[in-house]
Amino acid sequence: MLHAEGPLLTVDVDERTARRTDIDELLADAIGGRAAATALAHERIPFDADPFGPENRVYVSTGPLQQSRMSFTGRMNMTGLSPLTDGLVSANAGGYLSRNFVGTGISTLEIVGQSDELLAVHVTDSGVEFEPVPDLEGATVPETSEYMTEQHDLGPEHCIAIGPAGENLVRFASVMTFDSRAFGRGGLGAVLGAKNVKCVTFEGDAEPPVEIPDPPESEIHREAATADDRMRSQGTAGGTEFINDNFSLPTRYFREYEFEGAAAIGGDAVEEKKYKKGACSACAYACKLPTRDEETGLETEGPEFETIYAFGSMQGVDDVVDVMQSNELCDTLGMDTISAGVTVAAYLESEDAFGDADLAHEITEKIARREGIGDLLAEGVDRTHDELGVENYTVKGMEFAAHDGRVLHGQGLSYAVANRGADHLYASMLSLEYSGELDPQGTLGKAERLVEREDLAAFLDTGIVCVFGRDYATPDRLETLFDADYDTLLEVGARAVELERHFNNRRGFDREDDDLPYEIPDLDEAIGEYYAARGWNDDGTIPTRAIESPPAPSAD
Ligand code: SF4
Repeated sequence: MLHAEGPLLTVDVDERTARRTDIDELLADAIGGRAAATALAHERIPFDADPFGPENRVYVSTGPLQQSRMSFTGRMNMTGLSPLTDGLVSANAGGYLSRNFVGTGISTLEIVGQSDELLAVHVTDSGVEFEPVPDLEGATVPETSEYMTEQHDLGPEHCIAIGPAGENLVRFASVMTFDSRAFGRGGLGAVLGAKNVKCVTFEGDAEPPVEIPDPPESEIHREAATADDRMRSQGTAGGTEFINDNFSLPTRYFREYEFEGAAAIGGDAVEEKKYKKGACSACAYACKLPTRDEETGLETEGPEFETIYAFGSMQGVDDVVDVMQSNELCDTLGMDTISAGVTVAAYLESEDAFGDADLAHEITEKIARREGIGDLLAEGVDRTHDELGVENYTVKGMEFAAHDGRVLHGQGLSYAVANRGADHLYASMLSLEYSGELDPQGTLGKAERLVEREDLAAFLDTGIVCVFGRDYATPDRLETLFDADYDTLLEVGARAVELERHFNNRRGFDREDDDLPYEIPDLDEAIGEYYAARGWNDDGTIPTRAIESPPAPSAD
């Protein structure tokens, strides 16, 4: 089976040490990316770890395809114990980091410990250096990139960095790369903040021995370059009006299902502001959206659809420039736009202030800096809804993505059971329900598809293939690329899901946590079907026999 090559590099920011460990056996079994990182996290993060404690570990990992020239592979995985959900999470980001990461010769970076001063960590193919960076305290993500460019000639394509939100332990702080691409969900930016790690750079010329079969490598690349679909010109923003027409664009903190201002902040409005093409490394599909407002001079990348939802419809804001401004604030301050936007929407609900974009921007900044009311909101909706006097629209502590589970019931089921919480990409049942392949109505009989979708998503995060490449990296092509049959590849994804579940079970998660804050048909019975399809226990735990962990070396 094709897999990533290279050792695990463990960086202890307390001891200022770096150690390489051979993980060939693990990679042969778990390929790389999310599956390898999850196996390591399961083995090496104590089940009772404090997400903000030195014992938590953050993994940055690559798959084998990051050495290819294939479209849809400019992505990286990050895994750790989430301060938002209190369970294991993996997040995935694009940009231009992956090829520079591969150049260091490692397959996985592990960061552990807690530094007593703010640090930059420089990883190269010849070693690791630790640089105290006190002057970067409170710096935004672009300011940090600027420093790294000026001092080390390493642009943002070499960096992962946190902004003030990460330093201030905002529970949904992101880790940014290339300034505008986010390891967004689950607050791993706050974990780096707790470790006092402001930035990690990657540089080198290593060429690990991975041979990518061609075809299909060049076929996929050619099809990506010549595809004629709206995603290429409008990115995910292009789906806004379709989703609104399907009544699954939650509006004004879930009061409504559709937004009268959707067209004003949707794909056409964003495309009007787009001034050049944007992509991730090697990707000819180029779905990213560098935008500029000529009147104000505001530049950002996006907004993507989920930001249009969180800072647009959910807040009753119908001006695309206002949403661009919110997007830029989240990117520069280092916050997940979904959780930040939904949390601001909860605040606007409590103040009866929907539509007040200036207030939304002010509150967004305050959250990142934990100023005033921002200190409370930085804890997220699950921990603050009582004080705000609003409904708790979260699952496992994570704020909802769009794609309303009250309308797309299979997606609702997915939100309920996902180890990551209310995230749309954990299984993406939504695309089956939008396309009509599955009837959006009802939850029963959908468990088998849900299991397959979760396993596929976990495998794609392992390989690593962008979620938007699913139609091009078809099962037969994946079989050729990875030299394994499709079921074997899905099993790799399934093991990642099961290890996440087992880790979370050991932290106290069970059936009670697989729930929704609203009613959908037959949810309880459908969750039972899901557990049965997985072979799990009725209480949402998994049988011990299911934990055949890939051979991850222990931390000792
Ligand atoms: S499809 Fe879009 S998000 Fe995915 S790798 Fe290509 S440019 Fe990046």
